[in-house]
Parts: sequence; C-alpha cells; structure tokens
Amino acid sequence: MVCAHFNSLQEAYLGNLVALKHQPGAIELMDDIIMNCTKENIEQRKNRFFIQGDPKAMLMIEFARETPEEIQAIATQLEADFRAAGLGYHFPLVLGDANIKRVWALRTAGLGLLSNIPGDKRSVTVIEDTAVAPEYLPDYMDEFDQILGKYGLSCVKYAHIATGEIHLRPLLNLKDKADVALYHTIAREIAQLVKKYKGSLSGEHGDGRLRGEFIPFMLGERNYQLIKTLKQTWDPQNIMNPGKIVETPPITENLRYLLGQTRELETTFDFSDQKGFLRAIEKCNGSGDCRKSVAIGGSMCPTFMVTKDEDKTTRGRANILREFLSRSEKANPFDHEEVYEVLDLCISCKACKAECPSNVDMAKFKAEFLQHYYEIHGIPFRTRLIAYLPLLNHWGRMMRPLTNFITGTSTFKKAIGFAPERQLPRLSKLSLRQWYKRPIQLNGQGKGKVYLFADEFTNENESDLGIKAILLLNKLGYEVGIPKHVESGRTYLSKGLVKKAKKLANKNVQKLYPLIGETSPLLGIEPSAILAFRDEYPELVDTSLKNQAVALSKNTLMLDEFLASEFEKGNIDASLFTREKRTIKLHGHCQQKAVASTDPTKRMLEIPENYTVSEIPSGCCGMAGSFGYEREHYELSQKIGELVLFPAVRQAAPETIIAAPGTSCRHQIAEGTGRRALHPVEILYEALKC
Ligand code: SF4
Ligand code: SF4
Repeated sequence: MVCAHFNSLQEAYLGNLVALKHQPGAIELMDDIIMNCTKENIEQRKNRFFIQGDPKAMLMIEFARETPEEIQAIATQLEADFRAAGLGYHFPLVLGDANIKRVWALRTAGLGLLSNIPGDKRSVTVIEDTAVAPEYLPDYMDEFDQILGKYGLSCVKYAHIATGEIHLRPLLNLKDKADVALYHTIAREIAQLVKKYKGSLSGEHGDGRLRGEFIPFMLGERNYQLIKTLKQTWDPQNIMNPGKIVETPPITENLRYLLGQTRELETTFDFSDQKGFLRAIEKCNGSGDCRKSVAIGGSMCPTFMVTKDEDKTTRGRANILREFLSRSEKANPFDHEEVYEVLDLCISCKACKAECPSNVDMAKFKAEFLQHYYEIHGIPFRTRLIAYLPLLNHWGRMMRPLTNFITGTSTFKKAIGFAPERQLPRLSKLSLRQWYKRPIQLNGQGKGKVYLFADEFTNENESDLGIKAILLLNKLGYEVGIPKHVESGRTYLSKGLVKKAKKLANKNVQKLYPLIGETSPLLGIEPSAILAFRDEYPELVDTSLKNQAVALSKNTLMLDEFLASEFEKGNIDASLFTREKRTIKLHGHCQQKAVASTDPTKRMLEIPENYTVSEIPSGCCGMAGSFGYEREHYELSQKIGELVLFPAVRQAAPETIIAAPGTSCRHQIAEGTGRRALHPVEILYEALKC
C-alpha cells in the first residue's frame, strides 16, 4: 500500500487520477480532520507509524500483484508520476498484512473518534455517499465546498475516492430548528450539484428515506412515474417498504430527535465528558456494524449473531434506551419494563465498546439503567445473591466443605434460578490471602516491588492461580505484596448495583493510590476485576477522587502486560524457561479485548522460546460472568459458545494447550467442550525450568 501524503485535498483529487492509471485494487481518501482525531488516542497513535508531518489529505493506494518486486516497481513508478505532476510530498510503501491492517484501523478509528465529539452537533448522514466520475471530482468538490462555506459549514471527507465517491458528513445539530432547515437546504443544493455533474446522489448506501424525496428531481418526473407504476403494480397495497423510494416524505419528517430535545438525567457513572447519559446513548449513529455475522468476524454483537433479532443488537438497545429516556412521560423515565426486557439479554461483553465505530458502551448503559430500575422496583433475590457473592464466599468459607456441597446440588441451583447443568465455582481450600499470610519467604531478587490485586474470584475460588502468579514473579526476581483493598466491584457492576460498586471503587482508590506508582504497579490476573480500575473507576468514583483514580489506572496492569513489557526491556531471561515445544490456543477475555489487548498475553506466552501462540478468533465465550449460569440464559449462553469458541477448542489437537485468562471463560470451555483451559500465568509458571 502506498500512502501518498498531500498538501491539500485538491492535490489528492488530482492524485487519484494519477494513481488510477496504475490499476490499484483500492484507493481510499482520508482528510486531516480524521487524521488529527487519532493524534490524542493512545491506541491509534501507534498506528500513525506511516504518517510524516501534517498532511492535509492522504490517499491509501492498495495494490495486489504476484511478487514483491512487482509491487516495489509499481510503487516507484507511482511516486515518480506524482512527483512529475507536482502532487504530494511523501509516498511511503507499507508492506505486509499486519501493517496494512494498521493503516485501515487508523482510518476506521479516526471516523469513530469523530462520532465521539461530545455535544449535540453530529456529523450527519444526508449527502454522505454522493458519487461523480473521478475526473469531475476536483471541480465538483470545489463547488461542494463553496455551498457548505456559504452556510458556514465544513465537513469531513473520506473513503472511496477511486470510484468518485467520497463520504461527506457536515456537522449539524438536528435538535435545533435552524440546523434542521439547513439540513434540508444542503441536501437539495447538493442534489442539484450532483445532477449538474451527472453523478449519483447515493453511490453506495441506497436512496431510502434520506434521498427518496429527491428521486423525482434526480431521475426526472417521467422516470419517477414509471417507478411509481412499477411499485403500484407489484405492491398495490403498499405493504413493502412504504415511503422509501416513492412517495417519500421530506427528510425533515420523522427525525430521530425532537426539536429542543435535551434531558439531563442524574447518574451514578460520570458521563460528563459526553455531556450526559442521553448524549452518550445518542452516539449510536445507526451504522449497523453491530449486526455482524460470524463470517464477517469480530465480536459485536454476540446476541445478534445467535438470534438475528434487531432488538438483540447494540443498536436496538441504544434505540430503545434513547426513545424511552428522552420521550417518557413518566416522572421517572427509567421506569419502563420494555427497556429492562431489551437490556436483559445484553451480556455486558463490551465488544461494542471496542468495535462500534462510536464506541457505544452498552454494558455501562445497562448497569446505569438497572441501578435506576431497581431503585423503583427493588432488587431481585438472585441479582442480590450474585452481586454479593464475594461476601457470601467469605462467610461460606467458615464451613467450606458444607458450602461446596450445597452449592453443588441441583436443588440449590434450581432454588436460586441457576441452570442445573452448570457447576458453580467451588471455594479453594485456603484463600489467597490466607496463604499469603503464612510464614513463607517471598522476597524477590532486586527487580523491584509489585503489588498483586487479590481479586474476589482468585482469592476465594482459584487461589492456586494467585499463588502461582506470586511464585512466578518471585522466581523472575520481583518482590510481591498483596495490599489491603476491597473487592473490585465487578459482581455489583455486572448486576447493575452501581452505587455499591462506587463505594468499593472509592475505597480501593483511597487505599491503593498512595501505594501504587510507575515503579510499584498494581497487577491482576482476572481481567474483569483488574480492568475495572481502568475502565470503570475513573468514571465511577467521587469527583474528588477522579484524578487519583486516573493516576492509579495508569499503573494498573494485567500481569501479562507487565511481564511482556519486562521481557521486552530485557529484564526477564528466557533461559529460565523450558525449551520444549508447545502450541497454545488463546481465547482472550472480552473486557481485555475492549479495554486492553490480547497482544501482551501472546507475547508473554511466547517468552519460552519454543512456545507458539495463536488466538482463537472468538468473541465472548457466552458465560459472561453470571449470565450463562442463569437458567433462562443457559441456552443462549451455549449457543454463543458454539459460534466460534467451542468448535475451535474441539478441533485443537489434544496436546495443544488452551489458554483463557478469564475465570468464566475457563468454566464455559470446560462445560461446553470437556477440555480444561489454563490461565496464561499458570502456563508460564509451569514452563519454569525449576
Ligand atoms: S451501536 Fe455502534 S455499530 Fe451499532 S448501529 Fe450504533 S453506532 Fe453503529
Ligand atoms: S455489551 Fe456485548 S452483548 Fe451487550 S450490546 Fe455490547 S456487544 Fe452486544
């Protein structure tokens, strides 16, 4: 891929014509607004590796040829042609799938970040896929800019320039009467401009309700009447898609927002950076990327992948939430069972937070909604039981054998509404803290001190993993402390008891902030618990603790992230590990994928020189905390597991190690496939030579 840098958009439109002569597979345009959006984003900064200076426009020109030599030759010739035409200033050739994906990721993310602009002005779709012949683009875009400039507007420009189609989205506030009028004016004037250049008002997305009003103008009255006759002949009762192509009402009718529609809602999470809860929900722009199928890949949205129902998509949930919260006539707009029902099947996997172009975080919205809903209707018994599990485990430990026996019986599971097929997590013989208090020598060897977060799941149910993490760190030279803290709050967050989670977050920040720093990080091994510090705490704690929570989040890491980074700094010696060959298949945890990354886990697992790791392209495992344990959700949970994860695990050779950092994922894999998945820390610990 040649990433041609230009000093102006006009140069890029002309450069497109030069590039087309070389028969590329694709040419995409990205303007400086999109590129600038990626400058402040931690993740996307890494993907700006190919950008030099501050280009006003970039063409990403992709070639597919038989040999690297052909690619090199074509790139050299293309650069020579650009320079001869006096267009552009820098033409790096990006090679290899991984790097090219990073370039595309930057473009996609830039657009998503644009949708995240807080407030009521949004980059609206209305003229977003006009297309004219590429040779007309320079003149067409010049006139286009004049029309927008006349109204004091500008817009982002990106996408499929090779075919003369550029996505154009002006920023407008469709809750404002004047902007709604402008919306219509611009649509009409751009339609006239497109017709002048013999183009298409909708080069890709279809006409529908947005462009239907202009079809008579674009095609001419006679052709429009023919279309109407066709429609009346085949659909005399106007059943199919009424009002979409013929008899379409003006675009200013049936708009998503009511004029002047703003409603400030008091929330427990802090949504102020998005100017309130409602505006955070309104970030959903309806693009429909959350209707992915397994074949398309990605994880969003697993409940749609299984059911194929719109109300099981992130979009469906966002639409229902927005409609009820903004238009409810009840004193408390959260008092709607319909919303509760639609959110019930959201498994809070956070795939939308990572993959939705607007980063809609439905798990957070659901938690916030449930808090309000329960304040009106009370907290159901099972919800309370799951949320307070850390406390119940603590008490249950006093009679551990009896607790393990009772929770293993079908009668108990049925009584509390759990699926009898499920095996509930058992209490470990000693909690991690009990083990840690024993008189054992745990000093490291001068590589500094780290703190391990004894999360509620590891501490009570899988203390062996915590012990292995401590012993591994010790062996690698680190001193490990378990600081005083309370539970992460994950069980409360997942059940919508946000106020209780807030209290815990406050306590943890107060206790840990003075202790944790760059040279003494807080490490965790259960992603859902440790990542609460990075994902939820900064928006959950009291305002007075926000800065401390943000500072703490920067030094809170998954153990995988810490060890991978230490290895890369040369602080860990690979010769401490076995040289045996091992193949590992990794199933990443949802929250890890949304808030952190699975890359450090892969890098950590490959510290032993002959360990090879590949990631299963799975989304959520389907267990999603307590979701898959709940009787009415059991079947859906299994179906989600069957999408990708279970078949991949079943197909893995018996000697292949299955790795999964999440405790729920390991349970789900065991019950869905009969295979035992290991925590990555366990795998690395077992790989130590002695
Ligand atoms: S939730 Fe995200 S992906 Fe789904 S329609 Fe809304 S903006 Fe698009
Ligand atoms: S959190 Fe997961 S299940 Fe819920 S809407 Fe987002 S992608 Fe779908």
